[in-house]
Amino acid sequence: MTLGHSKNEFTAAKYLQDELHIEHTSLSKIADTVGTPAYVYSTSYLTDQYNQLSEALTSTPHQIHYSVKANSNLAILSLFKSLGAGFDIVSSGELSRVLAVGGDPASVIFSGVGKSTEEINFALKAGIGCFNVESRSELLRIMAQAELLGCVANVAIRVNPNVDAKTHPYIATGLKENKFGVTKEQALELYRLAAENPAINLTGIDCHIGSQINEPEPLLQALTSILELRDTLEREGINLQHIDLGGGFGVQYRDEVPLNINDWGASVGQILGGRDLQLRIEPGRFLTANAGVLLTRVEYLKVADEPEHKNFAVVDAAMNDLLRPSLYQAWHEVIPVKRSSKAQPLEWDIVGPICESGDFLAKDRVLPLLENDLVAVLSTGAYGSVLASNYNTRGRAPEVLVDGDEFKVVRRRETIQDQLRLELDQAGH
Ligand SMILES: *Cc1c(COP(=O)(O)O)cnc(C)c1O
Repeated sequence: MTLGHSKNEFTAAKYLQDELHIEHTSLSKIADTVGTPAYVYSTSYLTDQYNQLSEALTSTPHQIHYSVKANSNLAILSLFKSLGAGFDIVSSGELSRVLAVGGDPASVIFSGVGKSTEEINFALKAGIGCFNVESRSELLRIMAQAELLGCVANVAIRVNPNVDAKTHPYIATGLKENKFGVTKEQALELYRLAAENPAINLTGIDCHIGSQINEPEPLLQALTSILELRDTLEREGINLQHIDLGGGFGVQYRDEVPLNINDWGASVGQILGGRDLQLRIEPGRFLTANAGVLLTRVEYLKVADEPEHKNFAVVDAAMNDLLRPSLYQAWHEVIPVKRSSKAQPLEWDIVGPICESGDFLAKDRVLPLLENDLVAVLSTGAYGSVLASNYNTRGRAPEVLVDGDEFKVVRRRETIQDQLRLELDQAGH
């Protein structure tokens, strides 16, 4: 059976002689070397996505701050650093990752509603580029800590522009009912308050309205909305140097028409006009999602005894490796690594070994499968490995970065010793 190319053509996974490859490296070869499950990423795909986004904004002074939480592997951070990216972080742990690859702290933006005092101090001492402040209380805390440390904190206020990103409720963040940011009215008050304080340097306005946004309108509405605030502030003598539009640029998982970033970039340039402002964006998924696959092997096939019952393909990856299907009912394409299977195509639920009915990777997929076959779960380079857990005491999967016909393990498979250590240490065993 021959599968159409459409299922994977927008991803880094390509068939060469009926065998699925990332760049010029066959996924079977990777599975033979590192075992399964394993995440595999493409260097050239990551690079191309970054360059596309940057080129879409050529007419606008801009800086791309890669959203570390989408995929925080050090090798990926290192790659984006080499391409000129700054970073958007949401914890001090992520800051440590950026510092570990020699990232410039001044290129780092710190987002998130719950920054602890320790995290704020760590970031201030490191000299990060900007705090995206999400509440009055946080602003007061940053002021107090900066005063104590005798330094100046660069700050943007995260505004919630109340636009509907038309995305899954769990990943929409720009509506009034979401926990993120403050209203424009509150933001105005916070800017006035902060402008009085010598420990704060107000540098910009921030927003981030959600994720997997495939329509340009919400993004452009948000931009227009925060520009109004910027102009109001300017009239009050509060001058800002940047506008941060956040991330959320959508990608194709199935049959979505993804955001046309060139059209979006052109519209952004028009809206910003001749204003003397730097544009910042915080893309995560756009850069990494389709650069990665989760490689997994079929353990058991459970064929239904009655035609109306389901067929299950139990694979060696589970919800602890890839949570998105269980958490968001996210669709990930699943395709065989070898296209020349002799098996009859049947409709399968592709499930993991975890003791939960919610443990599935994909449902109702027609595939020719035999036990021991390798399959690739596509579009898993973003919010894949980073959401992995040890549920059922499963070790987290390794990560592999392909470059042409070479590949490198950039995170080794977690061993049982890795997991037990934190408890054995405590129990005196
Ligand atoms: C998650 C997040 C991003 C990245 O979102 P993507 O949808 O992956 O582009 C950017 N900025 C902030 C504040 C975020 O929380």
